[in-house]
Amino acid sequence: MEFSSIRGQFPILDQEVHGHPLVYLDSAATAQKPTCVIDAVSDFYRRDNAGVHRGAHELAARSTLAFEEARAKVARLVGADSGEGRDEVVVTGGATASLNLLATAFGNASQGRGGKAAERFALGPGDEIVVSEAEHHSVLLPFQELALRTGATLRHFGLDDEGRILSADAGQVIGDRTRIVAITHVSNVTGAITDLAPIVARAHEVGALVVLDACQSVPHMPVDFHALDVDFAAWSAHKMYGPTGVGFLYGRRNLLEALPPASFGGSMVELAFLDRPARYMDPPARFEAGTQPVAQLIGAGVAADWLMDLGMENVAEHERNITDRLLRLGDIDGVRILGPTSPEGRIGTVSFDVEGVHPHDVGQFVDSRGIAIRVGHHCAQPVHRHFGLYASNRASTGVYNTPQEADALVEAVSQVRHFFK
Ligand code: PLP
Repeated sequence: MEFSSIRGQFPILDQEVHGHPLVYLDSAATAQKPTCVIDAVSDFYRRDNAGVHRGAHELAARSTLAFEEARAKVARLVGADSGEGRDEVVVTGGATASLNLLATAFGNASQGRGGKAAERFALGPGDEIVVSEAEHHSVLLPFQELALRTGATLRHFGLDDEGRILSADAGQVIGDRTRIVAITHVSNVTGAITDLAPIVARAHEVGALVVLDACQSVPHMPVDFHALDVDFAAWSAHKMYGPTGVGFLYGRRNLLEALPPASFGGSMVELAFLDRPARYMDPPARFEAGTQPVAQLIGAGVAADWLMDLGMENVAEHERNITDRLLRLGDIDGVRILGPTSPEGRIGTVSFDVEGVHPHDVGQFVDSRGIAIRVGHHCAQPVHRHFGLYASNRASTGVYNTPQEADALVEAVSQVRHFFK
């Protein structure tokens, strides 16, 4: 696989920033878009634009077909295309929306909505929800709110010195009262890949549901939700080279069928009355109230196809080489990597601290050389506390990066402490 030619497919990368060629190392925040995705969105607006699943005209029919084909492509990328697979992928506004949808639906079930079928989602005092210290706020907060709403207790997995989730503690952390385990597949701070097998096995042993945050795994490695045996998963299109404003909730078909809706309105109801409750549609429509992000999903479908053409194994291998070079940051005096220091068991999201220099200063210094990284707490404050910090610097890879770009960052960071002395 020749990754050097891929770069030419990203028009945004062909520019100078502060007189230097742009080095974009912020794909964990959002990935850049290849021409095929940009063209698909613009072609849709030029030729086919219409609302989906309504309207009897030609454009509505074309839009609906393209929308459902795009859903199927995205489902294929995550191994959810077998049998009724496409009905296992709900289209949302993004991963945060997916996780809030799920937590709200569990809360609704806890209040008796959804009838007998939804009882398996109901929580109450004494029940437990398990997260980890590595969670993005988009997992932590919806499930913390769910605990507050239902009287359930929030527990968590701790991390080792390199920030890996202590999966071996599953036997202690997940107990008989655990009902939900909401956990990240890959941390957006440490880049560590979670050893899911012991967590999933223990959760299912006690009858708990596993909710996976797959935001940082889907764009960087082969992911198959059926093989991982998770019950739900959330991720965003914009981190996998697709448009912003669209994301996904995977759920096992039988679970989605039993789950009550979380938001209400057009397109999700079969029968609506003034004098009795409505009858809602089957999933995925039941969870897709309102006008859909049609162009965005079509772009995401093209991105999914494009990634599958590259091959996720190839993507992972390409980024592993760059990660290897980025990890040389740890050889610089006064620089500490917040995460695994070898490329095994991790992706190319490499957070680091430069002793005595505020992350905003580091960010500005490297930006003056045309290098884009992220600084701050990356919406994950507990993991920063684990490392005794409030904020950090984060470089993160995409398919378009080169080893030379990683070297450019390492070279720039090696001068930071001297500059701010
Ligand atoms: N989870 C992780 C690990 C993330 O990195 C992000 C995005 O930063 C999210 C959840 C939330 O994704 P979004 O902002 O696209 O909803």
